Amino acid sequence: MENSRRHFLKSTCALVAGVSVYPLSGNNANAEMEPAINNIKYALLHDETKCIGCNACVEACREVNHVPEGVTRLSIERTGPFGEYPNQFYHFSRHSCEHCENAPCVSVCPTGAAFINKETGIVAVNADKCVGCQYCIAACPYEVRFINPVTKAADKCDFCRETNLKQGKQPACVEICPTKALVFGNLKDPESELVALLKANPTERFKQDLGTRPKIFRIKAKQGEIIL
Ligand code: SF4
Ligand code: SF4
Ligand code: SF4
Repeated sequence: MENSRRHFLKSTCALVAGVSVYPLSGNNANAEMEPAINNIKYALLHDETKCIGCNACVEACREVNHVPEGVTRLSIERTGPFGEYPNQFYHFSRHSCEHCENAPCVSVCPTGAAFINKETGIVAVNADKCVGCQYCIAACPYEVRFINPVTKAADKCDFCRETNLKQGKQPACVEICPTKALVFGNLKDPESELVALLKANPTERFKQDLGTRPKIFRIKAKQGEIIL
């Protein structure tokens, strides 16, 4: 990436900063917003009933995708403890890019750096095209994008598109999970474990009312917060 070009574009974009960047429809000219053209639409399931909050996924993601300290592509949020000792428990919830089918980050990106890969449905970033304007960070309703301090480009979960997936492996977080709480797969494959689990379990997706059509599904923790 040429720094001079990025700096020039950054200052140009700064001139128009301040406008609201929250559209959920309407594309910029460069954005790839078409639905997947192949028979692949990748998605992820987090089974919160199996998650023990060990953070192995967070560390595996950092190592495999060379994510610098101080920023992260995913986090596991812990709430609790609930109940009375010794029967206390926590809830664990995963936060990472939702791989929205109608992605606000893609709609607002002025350079086409934020895009949806047509062959897989993965929302990704082309660091070479990113000018660091942060429009996408402001537009993402899930607050999962950040500027990578090394590349100076926007960054976030890309389902390990450039690393494990490219090598024919499962995403790093899925591969490492000791309780198999994460299941990655193709929503268009009726034979996949992912689709079988989605058919067999009630699941939840965050902020669906915004029309983003997220592709991270959750099997919610079964225990309630109150024990009488
Ligand atoms: S969760 Fe945020 S970064 Fe991910 S696709 Fe949706 S808007 Fe973009
Ligand atoms: S910071 Fe985000 S919106 Fe700006 S150019 Fe980079 S990817 Fe596009
Ligand atoms: S899928 Fe890959 S990039 Fe996304 S959170 Fe998991 S390890 Fe990180």
